Amino acid sequence: MSKSYAVGFPRIGEQRELKVALESYWAQNTAFEEVQKVASVLKKRHWEYQKNAGISHISTNDFSLYDSMLDMAVIVGAIPARFASLSGETRYFAMARGNKEAVAMEMTKWFNTNYHYIVPELSLQDVYVLDATKVINEYKEAKALGIQTKINLIGPLTFLGLSKRIDGGDTYELFGKILPVYEALLKEIASLDEEIVVQIDEPILVKDLEPKVLSLLKPCYDVLAKVSDTLKIVVQTYFEHSNEATKILVHTPVWAIGLDFVHGVKNLESLELVAKSDKKLIAGIVDGRNIWKNDMEKTLELLETVAHAVPKEKLIVSTSCSLLHTPFSLKYEENMDAEIKNWLSYAVEKLEELSLLGKLFFEEKETLNQKEVALFTANKAANESRKNSTRIHDSLVQERVKQISKYQREGDYKERIEIQKAHLAYDDLATTTIGSFPQTPELRKIRADYKKAAISQEAYEREIKAYIDECVAFQEEVGLEILVHGEPERNDMVEYFGEQLKGYGFSQNGWVQSYGSRCVKPPFIYGDISRPEAMTVEWTCYAQSKTKKIMKGMLTGPVTILNWSFVRDDKPRDEVAEQIAIALSDEVDDLQKAGIKMIQVDEAAFKEGYPLRKENIALYEKWAVDNFKLCVSTAHQETQIHTHMCYSQFNDIIHTIEAMDADVISIETARSGNTLLKIFKETGYKQEVGPGIYDIHSPRIPSVEEMVKQIELLLEVLPAKQLWINPDCGLKTRKWEEVKPSLINMVTAVKEVRKRLA
Ligand code: GLN
Ligand code: ZN
Repeated sequence: MSKSYAVGFPRIGEQRELKVALESYWAQNTAFEEVQKVASVLKKRHWEYQKNAGISHISTNDFSLYDSMLDMAVIVGAIPARFASLSGETRYFAMARGNKEAVAMEMTKWFNTNYHYIVPELSLQDVYVLDATKVINEYKEAKALGIQTKINLIGPLTFLGLSKRIDGGDTYELFGKILPVYEALLKEIASLDEEIVVQIDEPILVKDLEPKVLSLLKPCYDVLAKVSDTLKIVVQTYFEHSNEATKILVHTPVWAIGLDFVHGVKNLESLELVAKSDKKLIAGIVDGRNIWKNDMEKTLELLETVAHAVPKEKLIVSTSCSLLHTPFSLKYEENMDAEIKNWLSYAVEKLEELSLLGKLFFEEKETLNQKEVALFTANKAANESRKNSTRIHDSLVQERVKQISKYQREGDYKERIEIQKAHLAYDDLATTTIGSFPQTPELRKIRADYKKAAISQEAYEREIKAYIDECVAFQEEVGLEILVHGEPERNDMVEYFGEQLKGYGFSQNGWVQSYGSRCVKPPFIYGDISRPEAMTVEWTCYAQSKTKKIMKGMLTGPVTILNWSFVRDDKPRDEVAEQIAIALSDEVDDLQKAGIKMIQVDEAAFKEGYPLRKENIALYEKWAVDNFKLCVSTAHQETQIHTHMCYSQFNDIIHTIEAMDADVISIETARSGNTLLKIFKETGYKQEVGPGIYDIHSPRIPSVEEMVKQIELLLEVLPAKQLWINPDCGLKTRKWEEVKPSLINMVTAVKEVRKRLA
């Protein structure tokens, strides 16, 4: 049997069955037993997909009703005190989502993916008690169906590294308390069968680790790998190379090391070491982060390179990471263009690829059956077509990229801002918003109906105009100074642009889990990007025609468009970003030609795109900043460029933000207090800043006094002439009943502060 290993499989269901079941249960429409029933059906289906594809290593405990980190917290008994009185599923979902008495645990991004995990809360006083029920039951459940599985766990170093200490201090101080629970867990697992593979995920090992953390690696796996002779321990990493850790792991008694050769090619540097050890190498070669068909010929070459150092009998081929980050199955993509669909591969299709690659690599070609031969031939043809298709390769776009001569817009910031201030005549502490206004159910319906052609274009435009009219009238009435049109025509800040750009594709069912029951359906970039026509000019000009005040144009920036899409894998990301930037630079120019004087280019996902390894940061910053600048390079001196970034740790990237050279940046600081602003002061940040003065993520309506206080705090750090006053993000998720009074209070607060200053 060839050796093919799936690191993990998505769980939400190919038609998001788990989402439906969970949400119905949460809404108290069904009993928990319904959720369990659906979960069993899904687990069985997913195991069978893998088995039928010929995958030799299939996982249990990769399934979760909410999140695997949360599961792990429950397994080790890391239950925050506020949930201690609860039990079972009530406690589990309260931890994830909060309840009337207790706030939910924090959620944050899983490495550089768009998946979010629940952050365990630990403290020195905790007593950790093993609860292996879920792990054991799932293993038995698969076994009863005749499916032998490996068991997936999140490893102790990753678990600690991603947790937080509620009593202050370092989570790794709890290593000595957590490790025995893992030992006990492995003992229980060992009692289940004669031999079991246990995959212990340690993605934290692909980060730049402090020596102190790295020093725990050997003691950790010396212990865990010796719990039982019948356990084969795999330490699994993904998303980057883990060379520092591999050096150590080869000297522990683990059975195998799992390395990602798609997103961590540098792992190749560790091959010699692995070869010298007695470890198996699980070689990640099928991309678990993307939707493209594997280029099998290229992959086989890569595998030969690997096999050059590590003998074949020590190799197992695998996905680069869990397939959790890809959509399920192409079978529901009924509307997709056939040529494009033929280039894609979702999780189920990736299993076939993996299995076939295993056969091609480990066995003689002659042993392939007819179906496999056909699959291989089709794969070659699809990749050939991708190399040559005119839908992908647009010589005009490529020519244009070659011609780029300037990344820098006219003028130096210091001169520019003076010209703008004279030209645009806005006051200190100018008030504005981030772009969107509430997306009401009626509005969503109008867009959906229009998409389905259930209403005419005329009717659609009438409704959108009516919404813009209302937004403009409201903003004028409240006394906001720089207006926005409210974004009623936009469903999503990336999708809206993707739909209008050539080279962008959309799926019908390409859902990927984001957190809990929530899924996103990222668009995908398959070809050279160009802009057939202006994308935002009409609506922006319409809005401008309704007011004498300045109407701020609203675009999504190239880095964010890139980071929130599946990106073609036949071109480096920076080059794809460059094409998007050029298309957007034409939009900036068109807006300005049409009389729009301020343009905001949102880079909500700028920070998200940061590489996991320090060694790659400088390069990312360079092209991300360059492409932002390229995007606004067409702006004249008097056109004011704004940018907006969502909540993130800015402290370490303040100089990079400055280098983007936007005239004004609005950022989310409402939730982080003023610590961030101090950094602006300390670094002598020169551009104008709109630190969000209230948190739009909560339905709460902040009072005038509260906002006055907040503005005064800002004034302690930055002078009035450098400050803008705005909410901390777009208002689309809020209700009008919340937005109206909040903005009225915000404007009143500014008036009061101005009075005091005068
Ligand atoms: N302009 C966008 C909006 O207001 C920005 C959203 C975001 O930053 N996530 O909705
Ligand atoms: Zn935002």
